[in-house]
Amino acid sequence: MVPGFLHPTTLSAFTSFSRTNIWVSKRESEWRRFRRCNVNRLCAVMKGTTTPESNASGSSVSNDDTSLRFYNTQTKRKEVFTTIEPNVVRFYSCGPTVYDFAHVGNFRAFLAYDVIKRWLRQRGYQVNHVLNLTDIDDKIITRMQELGCTLRQLTDKYTEAFFDDLKLLNVIPATHYPRATEYIDDIQELVQSLLDKDVAYLAEGSAYFSVNSFPQYGQLVDLNSRTDEIARVDSDSRAKRDPKDFALWKGWKPEDGDVKWESSVLGPGRPGWHIECSCMAMKILGEEIDIHGGGVDLTFPHHENEAAQCEAHSGKQYVRFWLHNGFVNINDEKMSKSLGNFRTLRDVVQKRIDARAFRYLVVTAQYRSSLAFTDDCLDAARSTVKRLDSLRQKIAEIKVGGGTDSQLNEVIEQARTEFEVAMNDDLNTPRAAAAMFSVVNAAEKLLKLNKLSSSDGEIVLDSLNYFDSVFGVNYEPDFEEEVEEEVVSIPSKIAALLDERNAARKMKDYQLADSLRDRIGSAGYAIVDTPSGAVLERKKS
Ligand SMILES: [Zn+2]
Repeated sequence: MVPGFLHPTTLSAFTSFSRTNIWVSKRESEWRRFRRCNVNRLCAVMKGTTTPESNASGSSVSNDDTSLRFYNTQTKRKEVFTTIEPNVVRFYSCGPTVYDFAHVGNFRAFLAYDVIKRWLRQRGYQVNHVLNLTDIDDKIITRMQELGCTLRQLTDKYTEAFFDDLKLLNVIPATHYPRATEYIDDIQELVQSLLDKDVAYLAEGSAYFSVNSFPQYGQLVDLNSRTDEIARVDSDSRAKRDPKDFALWKGWKPEDGDVKWESSVLGPGRPGWHIECSCMAMKILGEEIDIHGGGVDLTFPHHENEAAQCEAHSGKQYVRFWLHNGFVNINDEKMSKSLGNFRTLRDVVQKRIDARAFRYLVVTAQYRSSLAFTDDCLDAARSTVKRLDSLRQKIAEIKVGGGTDSQLNEVIEQARTEFEVAMNDDLNTPRAAAAMFSVVNAAEKLLKLNKLSSSDGEIVLDSLNYFDSVFGVNYEPDFEEEVEEEVVSIPSKIAALLDERNAARKMKDYQLADSLRDRIGSAGYAIVDTPSGAVLERKKS
């Protein structure tokens, strides 16, 4: 069992473990910054705003460290993961609405899917991953009208930006990226099936799902605690029989312009958001899937409604494991477009290292916990990535021959075991990172003593590559860095001397001009004649 980290019941226990086992760094400031970030996470755990990684009593059905366990939102406990088909995972995750750049809160979800997928692949599963693109909804229509462009022009632009951002973050591509607008016929058929089964009804040109006709509604959330949200959902529609009912097909309104699809039964209109995901998931992966992922804010109503539609249609259990990632917070508030406190990936990534640092920061936080995003945390992650790079570089330059260090081999073996135990425990990446750093610390110590042989170096590199198969931070981001020119501010006194020298030259008083040049030179500046006149440059030391 890994000490301390798994059961951070007190702040002091947590910090003392961090200090001893993870962040024994020569750079105390780097360690302090990182500890502050982790302490923030721990404080969130203690305040109950995030989820502790411990497998508290009754939360797990198995104590077997080699079994993969996920926390299932539906059953509210960790369960041993099994699949419908042997060795194949049917994985659906909610993708972006492509009307703007995704913000870093959104990328938390896409990186969580990436870590899930990487660990499943590491365990030998073939992962059939579907990530949908919502390319029709109210926000898209409003935006295209604001910009005066077509639906396709808008959604193509932001789909391309989304793919660029995924690549920048070294995310393994999904198997399928279906667009909702490519599934309109299938969506209409699904709505028809729900009408035929009497769980849906037509009213004022739209079709609605009748929640009261489906007794299992409320399997993901306690509906009694969600009355405010239920009241808000589609509250503008007077055609609904019950406030909980939701739109399957939204009848065309004049403000929708030319955005509509024809249907002889449903009338002109467009699909509701929830039915898009239900349809694409079942069409591509089948009526029963293994994992459905998304941000915790999608649990209700989106995922509740998705499940109701699919199960009312098929009569089968739609999803075996519901996995939900936590928010990214800024100043204790959820980062969101509606609150206006968001930062896009393009705001955060100014240099190649920033993309890797952002990835490291997100993937080493347990995916269900909320993540406090600050510049300090990003700085600390940047230092960590540089530290890992530096270790790899030093190993590549080893000139020491000789045998292997048995103690180092023990550390590596132990770290791999701890890493696997942590990942199997609902992807406890903070603990997995701690295991990786036990190897980093040991290797750095031997390097400092000039005792790391080249064969030891190879073993260390092998283990780092193994850990990185999940963390994915050892890559070269495809990003063109802007080369910043050094801005030199010239003191006003020196600038005045240049003006005097220019005036002297104009008066052909070359003696005065030369003495002024010397004074400027002795102050550390050089005069450079350019086609647009003389300018000053700081002399190279
Ligand atoms: Zn969805």
